[in-house]
Amino acid sequence: MSILFALAGNQNSGKTTLFNRLTGSNQHVGNFPGVTVEKKEGRLLLRKDAFVVDLPGIYSLSPYTAEEVVTRDFIVKEHPDAIINIVDATNIERNLYLSLQLMELEIPMVIALNMMDEVRASGNSIKVKALSEALGVPIVPISAGKNEGIHELVTVAVKIATEKQKPKRQDFCTGEIHKAIHSIAHIIEDHAAAAGYPVRFASTKMVEGDEPMQKELKLHDNELRLIAHITREMEEQLHTDREAALADMRYQFIENVCASCVIKKGESLEQLRSEKIDRILTHKYFGIPIFLGIMLLIFLLTFSVIGAPLQSLFEAGIDAATGWFSRWLERMDVNPALHSLLIDGVCTGVGSVLSFLPLIVLLFFFLSILEDSGYMARVAFVMDKLLRKIGLSGRSFVPMLIGFGCSVPAIMATRTLSSERDRKMTILLTPFMSCSAKLPIYGMITAAFFEKQAGIVMFSIYILGMLVAVLSGLLLKKTVFKGNPVPFVMELPAYRFPAAKSVLIHMWEKGKDFIRKAFTIIFLSTIVIWFLQSFGWNFQMVENSADSILASIGNLLAPLFIPLGFSDWKISTALITGFTAKESVVSTLTILTGAAEDASLYSALQSLFTPLSALSFLAFTILYMPCVAAFAASKQELGSLKSALLTAAYQTGAAYVVALLIYQIGRLFIG
Ligand code: GDP
Ligand code: MG
Repeated sequence: MSILFALAGNQNSGKTTLFNRLTGSNQHVGNFPGVTVEKKEGRLLLRKDAFVVDLPGIYSLSPYTAEEVVTRDFIVKEHPDAIINIVDATNIERNLYLSLQLMELEIPMVIALNMMDEVRASGNSIKVKALSEALGVPIVPISAGKNEGIHELVTVAVKIATEKQKPKRQDFCTGEIHKAIHSIAHIIEDHAAAAGYPVRFASTKMVEGDEPMQKELKLHDNELRLIAHITREMEEQLHTDREAALADMRYQFIENVCASCVIKKGESLEQLRSEKIDRILTHKYFGIPIFLGIMLLIFLLTFSVIGAPLQSLFEAGIDAATGWFSRWLERMDVNPALHSLLIDGVCTGVGSVLSFLPLIVLLFFFLSILEDSGYMARVAFVMDKLLRKIGLSGRSFVPMLIGFGCSVPAIMATRTLSSERDRKMTILLTPFMSCSAKLPIYGMITAAFFEKQAGIVMFSIYILGMLVAVLSGLLLKKTVFKGNPVPFVMELPAYRFPAAKSVLIHMWEKGKDFIRKAFTIIFLSTIVIWFLQSFGWNFQMVENSADSILASIGNLLAPLFIPLGFSDWKISTALITGFTAKESVVSTLTILTGAAEDASLYSALQSLFTPLSALSFLAFTILYMPCVAAFAASKQELGSLKSALLTAAYQTGAAYVVALLIYQIGRLFIG
């Protein structure tokens, strides 16, 4: 018999850190609420027959967000043997709010009281034994970050799971609420049992007016009327509404317990320091300029100062390897067509993409430092006011930020948004945040046309993406997505020194994804492109690729791009292959120009584009529809193919218009 644990807790309470400690895996840890979206499962290091599931961070079991639904469904429907409820000891009052609700589920539970190192450092203390008695569940003080108390936690968790030791108390209610909960419990008892919910949990939810629960219980009309009557009576007696009444009850209880169990010497050092830093970084006027300044610095470092020399080195390595491989093939006397496929197709194509690895790893080095330190959560806070102007809340900043890495997880991260309206709008706008797969395209074009101004051009490209997102937001707010964004509540985590391990993991993950993609999708598409550009419709190899199958396909679309300033079939073909993965644009162009080394690639590009049309091409590639993986993700999250197609059409349309404006207006000046 194996044991299944559910790991539940507030966002940013250290859940993933604990999960990694328990299972020895390397999930991404971020000092940033809303990082874990899907549940992840792992096997315990200390008990090979036990498994633990890392659930998304939540504040309550009321289904306000998709994550809360995931967590609730998992705990109620999958019947874990025990819940490990992780509680951030530096924020104990707010964290216990969830604990009280988890206890109602009648599942064995242990509280892992995390961040005890910080509590100690600030001179505070917590009477763990008294707290545990008051709550009726075992509590183990731990520090997931410092690897303290993990052994004890596992021991206790296994014990309560095998002995099926349920929480001793569930009744935290008093007076009118007590009356309401217990009366409703009698009414719904058999329905709750039939639907598989603990009766206490179900009746609290009915008091709260939880609609999904109401549906699942399949109550009769007269029972519903009775319940409505009971709750109305309660509201009248207490002079508040039902949700507030329950929240008050829970906080009242928590306050009393904490008053006797938590000894506060003062604010923690971390908090004091954070407040001081925040006075500058979240300043009313300087907040946004500081953020832009930091981003500009990061771009300059990534693309010019550190990145450029690293990339040249890396490129030299790839070129040497390709040259060596080519000579070896010659010595082996392989068929010239095969030689061409392997060298001009695969090595050139995959190599052109792979050479951007240092830039990507470097960019994520900086971004994960910003994220881990807690700064990005501040930026979300600072951005809230701006995002509100375009009809979104600061919450949408999280997915958008992830969008700079890859649109797929970014689109999935919109599950943290509680309103459908905010979600759809964010899914539409997120791909405008330029993802890392597009970076090789910018790198290639800037190197060929704007070598001196690489950092600035890169920065402007990213800004252009955001600008289009802002304008689209304004437009959509007035048309398709009327209404208001939800209010923004996100707690600001304390500033922490980023853990080297976490930053390294993040870089490694990004690097690995990138390499994997280069050797799968890009690899395959280079082979296909090589075939299509080497053969004509009669399946004879062609002398000149302009007579190839690929050229005739590219020529079909090429006229569309004449107003944008680039009409060569090679470019339209590259844009089509970009749909499989954005890096393909680079590998395709490299193969099609037949350029073996940088210098000849750049001169080939210079004959395809003018500097102005290169800019319009860049604008088009940032904005046009995302790759097939992101498209699939948005179909899944939007729930319909039609919405996903409309979204992609909007994005491509926006790309076309912006590129057109850049080229046509630019021509007026340049002549
Ligand atoms: P999650 O959002 O609940 O999954 O939380 P994470 O595991 O991503 O951790 C949030 C932040 O808290 C990260 O910056 C961690 O490094 C930090 N953290 C986690 N556990 C501890 C701990 O025991 N002590 C301290 N000081 N920091 C911790
Ligand atoms: Mg997490």
